[in-house]
Amino acid sequence: MVVSITGATGFIGKRLVQRLHADNHRICVLTRSKSKAQLVFPAKEFPGILIAEEPEWKDCIQGSNAVVNLAGMPISTRWSFEIKQEIKDSRISVTSKVVDIINNTQDDVRPSVLVSATAVGYYGTSETNVFDEQSPSGNDYLAEVCREWEARALKVNKDVRLALIRIGVVLGKDGGALAKMIPIFMMFAGGPLGSGKQWFSWIHLDDIVNLIYEALSNPSYKGVINGTSPNPVRLAELCEQLGKIMGRPSWLPVPDFALKAVLGEGATVVLEGQKVLPARATELGFSFKYPFVKDALKAILSS
Ligand code: NDP
Repeated sequence: MVVSITGATGFIGKRLVQRLHADNHRICVLTRSKSKAQLVFPAKEFPGILIAEEPEWKDCIQGSNAVVNLAGMPISTRWSFEIKQEIKDSRISVTSKVVDIINNTQDDVRPSVLVSATAVGYYGTSETNVFDEQSPSGNDYLAEVCREWEARALKVNKDVRLALIRIGVVLGKDGGALAKMIPIFMMFAGGPLGSGKQWFSWIHLDDIVNLIYEALSNPSYKGVINGTSPNPVRLAELCEQLGKIMGRPSWLPVPDFALKAVLGEGATVVLEGQKVLPARATELGFSFKYPFVKDALKAILSS
């Protein structure tokens, strides 16, 4: 398979490229910066990978069987008016670009599948509701971003199989929220964040990569699919497990301000969560390598 990937240089993208490359698929990294991407994917380690900046995206996409769309400005920053606009625009503009190229490609060379990222922020936040793919969207800022992001992907040609993956908080050692939380836990203690009652819909990096990989090749993966583990936890439980594994006491609360200092308003995805279940992935028989947070954290922290 030939796969073009936006956001390939990011936390999830890097691991996806490693997986696809190891399985001898051909990859085209669609990036804003060739020089940065060449550092992430050195030719010696990743022979045969193509790295493309615009306007070369078009040639890559037109020569691909599949496209994965992961690009977007990180949300873990301070949210000024301008940054909020950029968080939204970066996702909408890259998705529109990719969809336009796909739609303007002749039938015989058009990629047959688009796997496009979105987020569980689509559902808004709640301490009591349980969300699956049928649930309505929320009414906060992140829900609005996700709706508009998804709306752009939905404009793709109807002959292209579209899988929209609503991703939860991805847990891995070298990126995402956890990598930023670990030093705070080391500085303070392993106690709860805020009330601790907030839901945390997480997924291990290996599982989100496996889900995207499966969506590329399995024609049943179509429409919205939540990319979350089957066992979301309340934040207090996440912190307790993290505290235990890290050998930090778990009774002293970690102050919100400490988390906000490193995650900015992006901390809201951790401090105000939602309980999201992967109903479609379960129905499709997807096998989670890490269904429980304790095992996921242990694997990450011992790696
Ligand atoms: P990263 O932040 O690690 O990487 C995203 C990539 O997007 C970057 O490598 C960069 O690629 C590109 N990018 C960054 N800023 C911009 C910008 N202003 N305009 C256009 N492109 C930009 O993301 P993740 O790997 O963590 O996540 C991938 C996708 O999944 C994102 O869209 C994210 O919102 C979504 N998601 C992730 C979650 C998580 O917990 N990680 C949770 C929910 C959703 P380059 O520099 O090569 O162009």
